[in-house]
Amino acid sequence: LRIAKIRHNNQLGVAAVGDGTLRAIFGDQSLNDLDEVVRAEGGGLRHVYERCFESGVPVQEAEVVFLPPLSRPSKILCVGLNYREHADETGFDAPEHPTIFARFASGLIGHNNPLVKPAFSDELDFEGEMAVVIGRSGKNISREQALEHVAAYSVFNDGSIRDVQFQTTQWTVGKNFDGTGAFGPWLVTPDELPRGATGLDIVTRLNGEVVQSASTADMIFDVAELISSLSTAMTLEAGDVIVSGTPAGVGFSRKPPLFMQEGDVCEVEIESIGCLRNPVVVDQRAQLSTSGSSSTN
Ligand code: MG
Repeated sequence: LRIAKIRHNNQLGVAAVGDGTLRAIFGDQSLNDLDEVVRAEGGGLRHVYERCFESGVPVQEAEVVFLPPLSRPSKILCVGLNYREHADETGFDAPEHPTIFARFASGLIGHNNPLVKPAFSDELDFEGEMAVVIGRSGKNISREQALEHVAAYSVFNDGSIRDVQFQTTQWTVGKNFDGTGAFGPWLVTPDELPRGATGLDIVTRLNGEVVQSASTADMIFDVAELISSLSTAMTLEAGDVIVSGTPAGVGFSRKPPLFMQEGDVCEVEIESIGCLRNPVVVDQRAQLSTSGSSSTN
């Protein structure tokens, strides 16, 4: 199943792909709110799909606005350094344990919506990644059971403001600027994909040129391992999202560096899951915060 959250003619809706067509239901809050559909831990996505084809209307993909498929995940757990060549290019050692940081829902944008570069930074970087949506809550989940907890997979661009990210040892701020977490367009259920969504081509293109190209089989910690490992610490809840790490080729590790500029278009495509496309705009209001004792209130 391929399902998206959309807006069309100022109406919120949910859409599903089947037989090459996109059909949508508008105005039904119990279906539109995919966060709640997933949190309900049932066959909610299948119900959405069936309703779209029983009583939905056909819509043109080019005419709809895509929203992030989940707009307020209970957690967004991101994995750093989960592809060996990427760890190498950044100068970090390949980790023995998953390197986890958090993103927050406030930074999420949908397919075709602009990635936002703050005017004070010239270091907006791309990171093409596979997102894993948890559909069944659990704690201390075994590796063998882990994939039963996945509701869907999607595509993510973990946009990063590198100069801010590396100002400190904690990456949270540089990873959480508004308009930098691109997510979507589709939630794709596991039955459409190889087990654990492994072995899929993952490619990032900047203005049509390939800048990252790998296979999801290259992950150091695969999806089952990430779920099992994270759940030893915290309850994974239905509606959480795990963003599973980026392959080699990111902009800041290149010589010379390659960062995204106003007018650029970045695409992240994962085989059988979808293509997430975002243009880049500049937020001219963004001011660099200054450290020190002076303040202007
Ligand atoms: Mg990342």
